[in-house]
Amino acid sequence: MLLIKKFTYSSADTNPMRCVICGFQDEKMTPFRASTNFTSSNLLNYGDGICENCRKFFEDQNYRRRSWYCSKGKVVFLDKKDILPTLIDPPDPPFLIHLTKNGKKQGFLQILAKPNFSRDRFVISFDDRMIWIDRKEIIEMKKVAEDARKRGFRKRDLLGDIHPKLWEYRDLCEKVISFKKNPAWEVVVFAI
Ligand SMILES: [Zn+2]
Repeated sequence: MLLIKKFTYSSADTNPMRCVICGFQDEKMTPFRASTNFTSSNLLNYGDGICENCRKFFEDQNYRRRSWYCSKGKVVFLDKKDILPTLIDPPDPPFLIHLTKNGKKQGFLQILAKPNFSRDRFVISFDDRMIWIDRKEIIEMKKVAEDARKRGFRKRDLLGDIHPKLWEYRDLCEKVISFKKNPAWEVVVFAI
């Protein structure tokens, strides 16, 4: 069983070691030593140990390679087609969501101790970034992205400069441009 961490510190945390991922000082800790091929040390906190729960996430490479959510003590892996339905209808709180484009970054290390308690506005990790998700915005973005794709917008039009001929759909272009300011848009365009 994988747990979403308790979220308050306690004076009963007496282990002198501190977890490099969640910052807690649990009873069951092991000393932490990053292997030489570990490239995400910028995602770790100050500490010298790793708690049992974080170790499960850290050592199993499936959590890096795949997208997933964690709720009610279990992890559910997501295919690309499951991503937007999950953001629009998130699991029961507390929950964590990690999404990845290419499975290379362990951005979830930043959110293991930051469970979400709201299904309307919550934070996810997307590769090595933390992104705020507003459920209502995702619903609107999905609609606009689908509409644009039907009219011949390529993903690069949705994320970069829009091809001049697409400006015949002026309203759509203006919406796309306004969404580009929000990193959640990149998640939607990736998942669509
Ligand atoms: Zn930990």
